[in-house]
Amino acid sequence: MRTTLLLDLTADSCGDRLAIGPRDAGIDFARLRNAARAAGKALAEGGAKTLVFVGLNGAAMPLTLFAAGYAGLPFVPVNYRLTDPELRRLIQRCDTPAVIIDDDMAHRIAGIDGAAIHRRSAFEAQFLDPDLPEQDVGEEPEQDIAVLLFTSGTTGDPKAAVLRHSNLVSYVMSTVEFLGADEAEAALVSVPPYHIAGISAVLSASYGGRRIVYLPQFSADEWVAVAAREGITHAMVVPTMLDRILDAMERSGESLPALRALSYGGGRMPEPTIHRAMAKLPQVDFVNAYGLTETSSTIALLDGADHRAAFASDDVAVRRRLTSVGRPLPSLELEIRDPEGKICPPGVSGEIHVRGEQVSGEYLHKSALAGDGWFPTNDAGWLDDAGYLFVEGRLDDVIVRGGENISPGEIEDVLRSHPAVEDAAVLGLPCDKWGEKVAAAIVCRSQVDEETLSAHVRSHLRSTKTPEAWFFRTELPYNETGKLLRRVLKAELA
Ligand code: ATP
Repeated sequence: MRTTLLLDLTADSCGDRLAIGPRDAGIDFARLRNAARAAGKALAEGGAKTLVFVGLNGAAMPLTLFAAGYAGLPFVPVNYRLTDPELRRLIQRCDTPAVIIDDDMAHRIAGIDGAAIHRRSAFEAQFLDPDLPEQDVGEEPEQDIAVLLFTSGTTGDPKAAVLRHSNLVSYVMSTVEFLGADEAEAALVSVPPYHIAGISAVLSASYGGRRIVYLPQFSADEWVAVAAREGITHAMVVPTMLDRILDAMERSGESLPALRALSYGGGRMPEPTIHRAMAKLPQVDFVNAYGLTETSSTIALLDGADHRAAFASDDVAVRRRLTSVGRPLPSLELEIRDPEGKICPPGVSGEIHVRGEQVSGEYLHKSALAGDGWFPTNDAGWLDDAGYLFVEGRLDDVIVRGGENISPGEIEDVLRSHPAVEDAAVLGLPCDKWGEKVAAAIVCRSQVDEETLSAHVRSHLRSTKTPEAWFFRTELPYNETGKLLRRVLKAELA
C-alpha cells in the first residue's frame, strides 16, 4: 500500500471537501490529487529520480509529497535553514533530483550538477490551476521508499532516515479513523515541512478528511490570529512554541473557543507550561506525542483524558504522569532494556526499544533494526506500574558521574519549577574526580544565586544530582523544532 492511497480514498469519497488552505480559498481533495498526479507524471518524465522540497510551509509541500508517491519516487524535504554548502551537499546526496524550491531561495542551489530546479510559484501555478485537465490514472510505478528524511542532527550529523510506504500507511491507518473528521475541522500546521511531524500531519489529515491551514513560519501572534480567524480545531506544536502561544493569547485577549485538541511533542514539555496551558484552555484535549523520525512519528501518547486525570489527582504517582508520554500505541510493542539486553522491570530505567509495522529503523545504506525487528531508540526511559512511559532523553545525554547514570531531564524540570528560573539546561562536563560532573546553564526570570538553586535541587533530588558548575546566560540554543542543542551548549561551556 502506498501513501497516495490515503489521499485517493478521501478524494473518491468526498473530493469537494477542502484539503488545504483558508476557508474561502482552499484547495479540495480532488484538486490536490489531480495536481499531484500531474506533477508526479511531469517530473518523472523529465527524468527525476527523487523529488526534493526546499521551502516554507504551504500547499507546495503536500503537492510534492503526493506527486512523489504517484510517480514512485522518494520525497526528500530539506531544511532551508541549513547553510548554502550544507543544503547543496544534501541535495547532491539525492539521486537525479528535481528540486521544488521557494523562489527567493533558488539562487542558493544554482548550478548543482544533475539537479532540475523548479521555482515554487511556477510549480504551484502550473499544477494547482483549477482548470488543469483531469489526469489519467495510469499504472502506478512500484517504489518502496516513500520519504528520505534527514534527522535534526541534535546528537551528531543528520542521518538520512528511510521511511517506506508501508511504515507511513500503517502508522496513519492505526492512529487515524478514515474520514473521522467532520467538515468543520481544521488543523493548523506550523511544524517544519522537513520534520516527520510535518509529513505525518499531511498524511493523517488526508486520510481523516481534515483541512490543513499552514503557517509559512511560526510566529506566536500569527498562530493565534490564524487559529481564531480560521476556526482551528486541531493543532500540533513543539514545546518551545506553547508558552509563546499562551503569551500571545494574553496579549490579544483571544480565547480560541473552537480549539478542541492540541498535541505536542518532539522534546520534553516543561511541567509548568502544560499546567498553564491546561488552565488557560480548559476545553482542549492535550496530547503528548512521543516518537522519532525512524518510527514514522508517534509511538506513545498521553491523551486528553490522561492529562485531566493526572492534573486533578492527589495521588503522587498519577499526578506525575503529566510528565510522562503516556502509553505505547496498541499497534506496536515497546520494551525497556538494560545494556545487556534484559528487560527492565517497572520503575527501572533503560533504553527504549520498539517494534512494529510503522518502525523503519533504517537509514540510507544501513539499518539499525535487529534481526527480530526491534529498534533501539537511543532514548533512556522507564515504565510505571500502569505502563506509562517516562522519557529521560537521549542516552548520549546521560551524565555518568562516578559510575552513576544521571538524566538531565529531571534536574531541568526541578530547576524550571523555581520561580526565578525561566529556562534550564543540564549536561555533563569533564571532571578529574568523577569523570563527569553535573553542570547547569540557567536563564533567569529574576535575580537568583547558585546556593539558592542548589538548595532547591537538593530538596527534590539526591545530592549527587545537584549541579556542581553553574552558568548564567541570557538564552539557550534551541533548533527550530524546539530541541535543546546540548552539543552546542556543551562545546561553549567546556
Ligand atoms: P538526531 O536523531 O539526528 O540526533 P533528533 O533527535 O532531533 O535528531 P528526531 O527524530 O527529530 O531526531 O527526534 C526524536 C527525539 O525527540 C526522540 O528520540 C526523543 O529524544 C525526542 N522526543 C520526541 N518526542 C518527545 C516527547 N513527546 N517528549 C520527550 N522527548 C521527545
